[in-house]
Amino acid sequence: MRATCWMGKKKVSVEQVPEPQILNARDAIVRVTATTICGSDLHLYNGFMPTMQKGDILGHEFMGEVVALGKAVTNLKVGDRVVVPFAIACGNCESCQLENYSCCENSNPTGWMPEKLMGHATCGCFGYSHLTGGFAGGQAEYVRVPFADFGPLKVPSTLTDKQVLFLSDILPTAFMGAEFCEINPKKVICVFGAGPVGQLAVASARALGAEKIIVVDRVPYRLKMAVEKAGATDVINYEDHPLHETLLDMTAGRGPDAIIEAVGMEAHSTGAQYIVDKTKQKLKLSMDRPIAVRDAILGCRSGGIVSILGVYAGFVDKFPLGSLMNRGLTIKTGQCHVHRYHEKLLRMIEEGKIDASFVATHEMNLDDAPKGYDMFMRKQDDVQKIILRS
Ligand SMILES: [Zn+2]
Ligand SMILES: [Zn+2]
Repeated sequence: MRATCWMGKKKVSVEQVPEPQILNARDAIVRVTATTICGSDLHLYNGFMPTMQKGDILGHEFMGEVVALGKAVTNLKVGDRVVVPFAIACGNCESCQLENYSCCENSNPTGWMPEKLMGHATCGCFGYSHLTGGFAGGQAEYVRVPFADFGPLKVPSTLTDKQVLFLSDILPTAFMGAEFCEINPKKVICVFGAGPVGQLAVASARALGAEKIIVVDRVPYRLKMAVEKAGATDVINYEDHPLHETLLDMTAGRGPDAIIEAVGMEAHSTGAQYIVDKTKQKLKLSMDRPIAVRDAILGCRSGGIVSILGVYAGFVDKFPLGSLMNRGLTIKTGQCHVHRYHEKLLRMIEEGKIDASFVATHEMNLDDAPKGYDMFMRKQDDVQKIILRS
């Protein structure tokens, strides 16, 4: 079959690889009908996530048709149309019982790696390095889905691929980030980053009742989409206006009640600290550029909530711990517990209460995945989400 493989830093190619097989009674094989490139895939593409190996199959956002099932999977049938959560969860362990599915204790066969780096193991994920199990990803014709009796969500034929594909990751991720903010109509919500997750965080905040939503980015077409499609009320282009001061101006000097950070380890900024962060990351003295988290902590109102959705891998410095502590901020974060949100979001989509399809700007053949990665990284042609089909 054809699969999109990581071949080294900024090198992705579509290769011929063996088709996946059922290895466990709880497995399914899914024929991928639609998949997409995630902003967090760019961290792999740009070589910032450790433990990638040449030939690893990429992709953690996909949907498709069940074509084979292990003996223990009785809730699915061959032919079912399913969306698969990027986080692999067993459904049985203590963390899964607590609905902390992205902390599943059974799904990461290389859990010793995150244990060393992070103190404890994380769950397994599709196509996202050997820190998360080295599972083959979904930017391919077929995928093996472990714990298929628990993870995949059956989706009705009345909904289009564009309406449901993003249930695999970015919609529940964004929704969780908005839910963290304990939204009510009086609260000012700010979203850092107007990429696909940021856009859907705005849409989620709107769906949860937020009336004032400020979006921060540096790319004009992304800010425009945030207002025209996602429902933002105000925007700040931090290259044109000083971020901190502008946030204060917009919020009677207090700062937003909650800030959702949808940027991650490759944040851009202005000023000297950005150059220091970038150099440290290049020299591998730091895995992450924590600029957006710093700005979110410093920008948030006292007693407010900082909701971190951006992906980070390791340790950072110049972390404003004093501001966090003295001003009584709450940080909420995590890889999304996708399964927790599936039924609720599917219902909201069916009832027209949320619609993620507006972020899908491009469609390509799987063979053009390398072009898609390059285009997404360069933010060409007003790109947000690229749907790949084989
Ligand atoms: Zn993703
Ligand atoms: Zn589990």
